[in-house]
Amino acid sequence: MSGIVAIVGRPNVGKSTFFNRMIQRREAIVDAVSGVTRDRHYGKSDWNGKEFSLIDTGGYVLGSDDIFEKEIDRQVELAIDEADAILFMVDAETGITGMDEDVARLLRKVEKPVFLVVNKVDNAQRLEDAVEFYNLGLGEYYPVSSINGSGTGELLDALVKVL
Ligand code: GDP
Ligand code: MG
Repeated sequence: MSGIVAIVGRPNVGKSTFFNRMIQRREAIVDAVSGVTRDRHYGKSDWNGKEFSLIDTGGYVLGSDDIFEKEIDRQVELAIDEADAILFMVDAETGITGMDEDVARLLRKVEKPVFLVVNKVDNAQRLEDAVEFYNLGLGEYYPVSSINGSGTGELLDALVKVL
């Protein structure tokens, strides 16, 4: 049996980069510029022989905070309904933002497994910076670099255990 895993988080944290790495195909679109509206992307992946479906959430309309807030909430609600596990991605380069706190608030109420993934941990300094994400109140986090792949093995080991 395969599970469904949704990646949620504010724009530019690296969701599509992670998704692309996982599905090993250039199916998701990585934005060079903000302000693009996109739909959700679905892909298949596997780890240690366990197959799962991955959803890259996007479709955010940038440029209006009101629309943005509503859209990110909608994406998180969809993910909560649809997925067996949720990867909540944040960004060690920028640190915690108000958007991250809003998403964390929604996810703290969820019964399904939620993995806090701190992306852009490309070096030792970023690994130190990442400790601030304990303040999101979601417990343990997984530091990863979607660019160089570091940390993704530990995350996937934990993820497939709950699928
Ligand atoms: P999304 O909006 O969450 O889907 O984010 P994208 O995947 O489009 O990535 C946004 C930007 O962050 C792009 O310029 C990526 O190259 C960059 N990025 C993604 N992952 C990493 C990472 O692990 N390290 C660094 N340094 N940059 C990353
Ligand atoms: Mg994206």
